[in-house]
Amino acid sequence: MIRGILFDLDNTLLDFMHMKRVAIDAAVSAMVDTGMPVPHEEAFREIYQLYEQVGIEHQEIFQLFLKQRFGEVQYKWLAAAIIAYRRARDGVMVTYPHVRATLVELLRRGLKLAVISDAPRLNAWLRLCQLDLHHSFDPVVTFEDTGHRKPSPMPFERALERMALKPSEVIMVGDWPERDMVGAKQLGIRTVFARYGDVKGVTKSGADFEIDDIGQLVQVLDRIEFGQPLADQFEPIV
Ligand SMILES: [Mg+2]
Repeated sequence: MIRGILFDLDNTLLDFMHMKRVAIDAAVSAMVDTGMPVPHEEAFREIYQLYEQVGIEHQEIFQLFLKQRFGEVQYKWLAAAIIAYRRARDGVMVTYPHVRATLVELLRRGLKLAVISDAPRLNAWLRLCQLDLHHSFDPVVTFEDTGHRKPSPMPFERALERMALKPSEVIMVGDWPERDMVGAKQLGIRTVFARYGDVKGVTKSGADFEIDDIGQLVQVLDRIEFGQPLADQFEPIV
């Protein structure tokens, strides 16, 4: 019997990469408009190369970029970038389709819902609050809560402990096989690959189920409950 669901946050509940792209694009446009003498595409590419080195959550990416490019930070460009980034981000941060309706249905069925995210604690909570999802999950286990990232078993164990559930009683939903699926499987947790959030072109997720829409989770639960074959396609969510 499934009593709880563990969700990854970025690219599983919210379209993080899309939000990031739009926000960086706006920031670069703002810097170019303010007089920064770098072609838009070049600046965009360099910022993403920096993210590869320092991590996508880095909070001073424009400072790094300007320092690397010009040897110093020109604050007029920096301020323009930050303001444009925030405006664009706030406007474009949304959940994937059917997230809210699905969470309501899962809660209605009496399931406990948790988030396990490798994002920094404050960033994870800010995103949850902005999407008004902060009341739906307990616990929310972030990087600082255990000091370990998935696929370490520690964040999974922490969530199970807080939910007072066993590995066999939960499923893990995520978009990153090497972290979300591998981590959960070590503990014997069933896994669901959020194919709709995949930006890396994953061909073999290694998950027990693969879904194209978060609404199909309800069908996953029914399959587990009634022991139907796992390999069948799910009904599309309209
Ligand atoms: Mg993710």
